[in-house]
Amino acid sequence: MCPANAADDDYFPTPVLRFESARFLISVAELAELNRAPLTMVPEIAFVGRSNAGKSTVINVLTGQRQLAHASKTPGRTQLLNFFELAERRESGEPMVRAYLVDLPGYGFAKVHEDKRVRWDQLVGGYLATRRLLAGVVLVTDARRPLATADEQLLAWLTARDDAARLRVHILLNKADQIGRAERARVLAQTEHRADALPMLVSVQLFSALKREGLEELRETLSHVVEG
Ligand code: GDP
Repeated sequence: MCPANAADDDYFPTPVLRFESARFLISVAELAELNRAPLTMVPEIAFVGRSNAGKSTVINVLTGQRQLAHASKTPGRTQLLNFFELAERRESGEPMVRAYLVDLPGYGFAKVHEDKRVRWDQLVGGYLATRRLLAGVVLVTDARRPLATADEQLLAWLTARDDAARLRVHILLNKADQIGRAERARVLAQTEHRADALPMLVSVQLFSALKREGLEELRETLSHVVEG
């Protein structure tokens, strides 16, 4: 139950970010554009995943906005980095940007033209390997087929960073509603085992965007990433 005094620090150890404040800000087609983009220097949390793992649905559920991430799927935006701003109101009423959620293009379509793959590697790989403001990465996987080769490629880019040890990676085993209890325990243990071998700070959770299961754990984890 919520205490009468919501300012009770013991009850709310980490102020949870106002995910519902998310709004689409910009799309970026080239890494070089990031230098000219009207972005505030705040932590960025990237969302990545194989196509169809449920990344857009996760972002929509997280922000409580039905269509938000589907903006990234509109023609012309699917191969771009899409930035969503999370803001808070100062006492003066002025909005203050706290973080960006960055929706990265999905990967893993069987037949991708070579040119397109190279472009994707440059944009997504370049962002993940070099972006200094990147504080956390949410890797959305399908709990029935977690950590395939394409996901490992993505983890390899992060592993190569010289600051890998301070980067938070949160692996979401999405669509957990599709598997039974024993399978959930097995897939969680198996993914945690893989996570232990990585140089980043990796956490793993079962999730269901469909049933909104695991939402509080996701919100708290991301709030910690932004609070540092
Ligand atoms: P994206 O390509 O990774 O952005 O995937 P989408 O968010 O478009 O989702 C792909 C499909 O998976 C859609 O049909 C979603 O309704 C479905 N989906 C997403 N999350 C879940 C989930 O937690 N459980 C189930 N059963 N289906 C889901």
